Amino acid sequence: MRRTTKSFTPVLLHGKFKQTKVKTKIINGSPAPVYKGVETIDCLRTNNTTKQTMKYDYLIVGSGLYGAMFAYKAKQAGKKCLVIDKRKHLGGNVYCEEIEGINVHKYGAHIFHTNNKEVWDFVNSIVPFNRYTNCPVANYKGKLFNLPFNMNTFYQMWGVTTPEEAQQKIDEQKAEAVAALKGREPQNLEEQALTLVGKDVFEKLIKEYTEKQWGRKCKDLPAFIIKRLPVRMVFDNNYFNDKYQGIPIGGYNKLIDGLLEDIECKTDVDFFNSEYHEWRKYADKLVYTGAIDEYFDYTFGKLDWRTVTFKTRIEDTANYQGNAVVNYTSHNEPYTRVIEHKHFEMFGQDVYDNPKTVVSEEYSTEYTEGMEPYYPVNDERNNTIVEKYRELAKQEKNVIFGGRLGLYKYFDMAPIIELVMSKLKNEHDLL
Ligand SMILES: Cc1cc2nc3c(=O)[nH]c(=O)nc-3n(C[C@H](O)[C@H](O)[C@H](O)COP(=O)(O)OP(=O)(O)OC[C@H]3O[C@@H](n4cnc5c(N)ncnc54)[C@H](O)[C@@H]3O)c2cc1C
Repeated sequence: MRRTTKSFTPVLLHGKFKQTKVKTKIINGSPAPVYKGVETIDCLRTNNTTKQTMKYDYLIVGSGLYGAMFAYKAKQAGKKCLVIDKRKHLGGNVYCEEIEGINVHKYGAHIFHTNNKEVWDFVNSIVPFNRYTNCPVANYKGKLFNLPFNMNTFYQMWGVTTPEEAQQKIDEQKAEAVAALKGREPQNLEEQALTLVGKDVFEKLIKEYTEKQWGRKCKDLPAFIIKRLPVRMVFDNNYFNDKYQGIPIGGYNKLIDGLLEDIECKTDVDFFNSEYHEWRKYADKLVYTGAIDEYFDYTFGKLDWRTVTFKTRIEDTANYQGNAVVNYTSHNEPYTRVIEHKHFEMFGQDVYDNPKTVVSEEYSTEYTEGMEPYYPVNDERNNTIVEKYRELAKQEKNVIFGGRLGLYKYFDMAPIIELVMSKLKNEHDLL
């Protein structure tokens, strides 16, 4: 495990560790005191060895959805948890910052969606969700198209009004692309996409957007990135196919606050640079949702990530773009999307009752040290390295690696909830 740079020795006073109140911190809700050190740890002497009675059953590193969900389930099972997070707030990437009365998705737009009724009912039992339906719009050089590709898109693209006309247009263009390959397989993403949807949809809605996302020409990207490009022959702009979708009423902080209710949490505490690095002193088990390579002190090298940066500003208008999500699919704009946060939670007159709005431009950015690690890179190098870390992780006693950083795997929010639910269902010994 990674060596700590600062060591901390709790002060033992008559069998109790000294508690030092250092600051007050907790978002959204009444402030609670945060303590450096642990309140009390009783020491028992058995057979000449000092056995400490643990104060916590679990030390949970990371207060994102995985850590918060784990803590909730553990509390339900009567276990005592301490949750620490190195950020100044709880909630990990689903955290929202309130600006001008609007919940701003600080780490990127988050839309909850699932087909799993158990998951949907569970999250709604913590906080009711609204009816937000994700219907993004694409802006290509000032012309708007509905997404995902559906009859509305094809009408906007070609003026076709029936599924038959739309299908004919797509088939013609796909046939042109296949003919151009002269019998060989597509060699790159551009050729692959052209054979799947034809040149008009590719050039206006995929090509330059993908190039901005990856920072490389579509001709230089591998074909396997795009396996399927579904087209809908119905007038349906609902982006997700899932049965359930929405946003927690009052924002994601309500979900996190609900999950972490009555659980001790400390923010601004980095596991590796705090007393909790010696976690066995404080808990029986460790739930670790930080980066797996960092846990093992980068023994096999650093894992790569892709990231997104945001430029957020307040606009002096009630309704800036009329939609939560607008994709910019040409190189005319350097950003990939503009998010107008109020549309996730305000509908109808509510939009106009607030005279201001908050928008964020999203830029796909190469990851460098110090940035937020967002998306794992599943290429050969990283897959090989992460397998080695996973082998080490299996050997760590009483440590559960979880979440997107701990598992080096992209998860949507609902699968994270499912993962914790099934882990705790299948492995009774955990609780
Ligand atoms: C840009 C973006 C957009 C997304 N949009 C959607 C969406 O629309 N819908 C959807 O379903 N999902 C979406 N997701 C996925 C969603 O964010 C994840 O499923 C979820 O956040 C995973 O939770 P987690 O607990 O695994 O990780 P995180 O939320 O990252 O939490 C990990 C926590 O661990 C803390 N931590 C790390 N190291 C340490 C340490 N050493 N000491 C103390 N604390 C530490 C971090 O500070 C962080 O708070 C999106 C993800 C991204 C990146």
